[in-house]
Amino acid sequence: MSNATAGGPGRLAGNGAVVARAPAKINVHLGVGPLRADGFHELHTVFLAVSLFDTVTVRPAEGLSLAVRGEGSAAGPGAGSVPSDRRNLVWQAAELLARHAGVEAAAHLEIDKSIPAAAGLAGGSADAAAALVALDALWGTRATRGDLAGLAAQLGSDVPFSLLGGVALGNGRGERLSPVLARRRWDWVLGIAGEGLSTPAVYAELDALRAAGTLPDGTDAASTEPVIAALNAGPPAALAAALDNDLQAPALRLRPELRRALRAATDAGAGGALVSGSGPTVAALAEDEDGAVRLAAELAGAGVFRTVRAVHGPVPGARLVG
Ligand code: ATP
Repeated sequence: MSNATAGGPGRLAGNGAVVARAPAKINVHLGVGPLRADGFHELHTVFLAVSLFDTVTVRPAEGLSLAVRGEGSAAGPGAGSVPSDRRNLVWQAAELLARHAGVEAAAHLEIDKSIPAAAGLAGGSADAAAALVALDALWGTRATRGDLAGLAAQLGSDVPFSLLGGVALGNGRGERLSPVLARRRWDWVLGIAGEGLSTPAVYAELDALRAAGTLPDGTDAASTEPVIAALNAGPPAALAAALDNDLQAPALRLRPELRRALRAATDAGAGGALVSGSGPTVAALAEDEDGAVRLAAELAGAGVFRTVRAVHGPVPGARLVG
């Protein structure tokens, strides 16, 4: 199936621009296995796509050019850590798709970021997935979802999930996905701390803590079962009890003030809270939509987060809009 068919036409009248958006993710379970020979860890994770979106707009141009606005851009909030050259995953996505399709890599790319950078929310991966979908439509490359998933896995471990969305079990580096049926909506509040955390640094800290015997070795595939059951059946207390992230302990070591942020979330009435991915974002589980609004208001006043966002999931992966 061509994704242009799946996502609608996606072309804005007049200027030939194509717009796509992709969601942030939370890992409701992140089990990190041993370090593999290729330098990656074997993961057993459950991804949930949530309603915080980055938008990528592409338009005809000569050669490739890129502009970044919003979170993490030079002029936006956050650390200004998002590159606007070929180091950006969107640029790499454009070059990869062009090579795959045998077309010239020619487009002006614009990223509007709402997902904070280096926050454990896979913002860069979301942008890459949205770029693949938008450029496929702009260039008429008619890639199938399977083709795009293959390219996504070459771009980064989380990019295939940003493309797929919903709820999925992730194995390997997180790129081998099995969709999971989600029977209900889950409401969360994301508490975004001031400065980003480097994902490789958090994994390195985990390895060091395990080598020192401070933390047990990695979890296995069966460790994902309780959270999948809870996601399907609820109630929120069951999901709260099943939330688990092996990267939380090393993230807390690198950023001790995260402990206060997690406590602020539970003190404010969250059923449960965990560090999202490699952090430093805290994902706090609410009872329902009204509960999330109340929790967000409470956490905004707690003085521990730069930004607080009420979100829900699951939501679809990268899609054309307009
Ligand atoms: P990971 O997916 O590694 O867990 P994350 O979700 O914590 O990462 P991202 O927002 O994806 O964090 O950014 C990680 C780093 O990737 C940034 O610090 C930046 O240097 C680089 N990067 C490249 N392209 C992008 C992009 N489009 N948006 C954000 N960061 C990008």
